[in-house]
Amino acid sequence: FRLHATPLKGSGRETGGVVVVLRDVTERKKLEQMRTEFVANVSHELRTPLTSIKGFLETLLDGAMNDPKTTRQFLEIMGQETERLSRLVDDLLDLSKIEERRVVHRWQPVNMVDIINRVASLFRPQAKEKELTLSLEVPRDLPSVYGDPDMLAQVLINLLDNAIKYTPPRGSITIRAMVLEDELRVEVEDTGIGIPAESLPRIFERFYRVDKARSRELGGFGIGLAIVKHIIRAHGGKIEVESTPGKGSLFYFTLPLAEPASP
Ligand code: ADP
Repeated sequence: FRLHATPLKGSGRETGGVVVVLRDVTERKKLEQMRTEFVANVSHELRTPLTSIKGFLETLLDGAMNDPKTTRQFLEIMGQETERLSRLVDDLLDLSKIEERRVVHRWQPVNMVDIINRVASLFRPQAKEKELTLSLEVPRDLPSVYGDPDMLAQVLINLLDNAIKYTPPRGSITIRAMVLEDELRVEVEDTGIGIPAESLPRIFERFYRVDKARSRELGGFGIGLAIVKHIIRAHGGKIEVESTPGKGSLFYFTLPLAEPASP
């Protein structure tokens, strides 16, 4: 542990005393607090759809069932809420697997160009529907990185999913890839709503959402970026974000090259 000593100012000029903090105690407390917060967050996220399903169920049993049209409408809402619940459980399972590093096992040389092309075509229909321009600025070949191809695809999926969700119709999204020194850098840039400066440091935290209501409406739980960060970290890389509210966001990550560039 690290020792921290801060002089305490007395009323006069002389020092009144010294505060000594044992770092490892505060770190452990912080971890504990994070865990408690996590459980509270999960419970809250689970409770919201459950409360709504329960409410519609009770209303149906109380007599609303006599009207077939209402019944159908309520059942549809209950179906959607059930979908949300199972998405949340899936996300949580993914996150815990990644956090415990139980997933990254299919390590192999990975061609990011292939992954970028594959993921981009996955999202073309969604982009088209919103009239978003999805462009790729990716060289034909790039040196490989070493990692798990499914996990690395997941990173791009989550970033693109957000870019599409948080960019208003007729905006544009650009994916770039390049080599910088002995790293591969991949960027996902959008012309979307952007992220306020005060939210930027927290954006990769589990359950953190800038606008809970808006994000929930779009189906988000604030888990996507936490997953991204864990995957990139497990691959020895880094992820960063720059953003201007009302203008757009740029997410970029770097990964070490499988074969360091020859001098
Ligand atoms: P969610 O599932 O809620 O989108 P994420 O972890 O993927 O969760 O993202 C966390 C929050 O970061 C989002 O709720 C949103 O507020 C913000 N965010 C993420 N990506 C973007 C983006 N490209 N543009 C604007 N805001 C974003």
